[in-house]
Amino acid sequence: MENDQKLSNPKKTIEIIQKYNFNFQKKFGQNFLIDSHVLNKIIAGAGVSGDDMVLEIGPGIGTLTQYLAEAARKVVAVEIDRSLLPVLNETLGSYDNVTVINEDILKLDLGALADEYNDGKPIKVVANLPYYITTPIIMGLFESHVPVDNVTVMVQKEVAKRMEAGPGSKDYGALSVAVQYYAKPYIVANVPRNCFMPRPNVDSAVIRLTCHEKPPVETPDEHLMFRIVRAAFNQRRKTLVNALNNSPELSVDKEQIQAALAAMGLSPTVRGEALTLEQFACLSGYVLQGNSNDKAD
Ligand code: SAM
Repeated sequence: MENDQKLSNPKKTIEIIQKYNFNFQKKFGQNFLIDSHVLNKIIAGAGVSGDDMVLEIGPGIGTLTQYLAEAARKVVAVEIDRSLLPVLNETLGSYDNVTVINEDILKLDLGALADEYNDGKPIKVVANLPYYITTPIIMGLFESHVPVDNVTVMVQKEVAKRMEAGPGSKDYGALSVAVQYYAKPYIVANVPRNCFMPRPNVDSAVIRLTCHEKPPVETPDEHLMFRIVRAAFNQRRKTLVNALNNSPELSVDKEQIQAALAAMGLSPTVRGEALTLEQFACLSGYVLQGNSNDKAD
């Protein structure tokens, strides 16, 4: 399709919206892209090529989908808003490699999709995400262990910074540790509000999360490690010893945490926000060991 005929041309977006009398739904986070440079950056950032199957979350009127369809072998686009189906039928009508599914992405079996459309091989996930469910979508994808090569998504700029941050940054938190356990983040582009219709109230960024084949650190108990991480950042101004001791999610006493910190060569007054992912993994090992020693006593 000629570039000026695509929906990235704001005139085309307005034309389609008027033709179908479409009403933007705030509850679905509907802010459609109207900037071809940003769309090209997303495709390049994700490294979409002619062999790829791409899962697009929330195609909207099909703006990003048109670019994906021209770059990928197959695009499966999952849209919750039924009223967009006739629109997508028109805007994607000239592409024979796109399948639109009218579903809530949080309820779909993504492993089955990867099996059906990509023989279970790793897929790429590309989206201008609905911001109200950014974290459940990304964490849901990681935790489901669907084979994924990378997740390249538009998110709120602050959220992108939090995903990419490391110890010592004010943006470092439980989301940073969780995302970095599963993937290597890289901010591809910052995107101003005027690239969307309607304009959102926040700035945005495109982030690529390249999934690790196996986690970069070893923990004997993933769930325990994430409980420790949540507890550490829930009370981030407290010392780690107090934050973990106060947590209703954990049953560890102060002496046990102090002994673990000493064994790791960390100060007894260290805060959770100073620990690396590797140190959280190591700490989970000591806590688990301490708990099993208690049971054996
Ligand atoms: N991809 C289009 C673009 O870039 O212009 C639209 C992006 S818009 C920010 C987010 C899209 O996600 C909307 O079309 C919205 O209806 C859809 N959406 C919201 N919640 C969803 C869900 N739970 N499952 C699938 N799609 C959803």
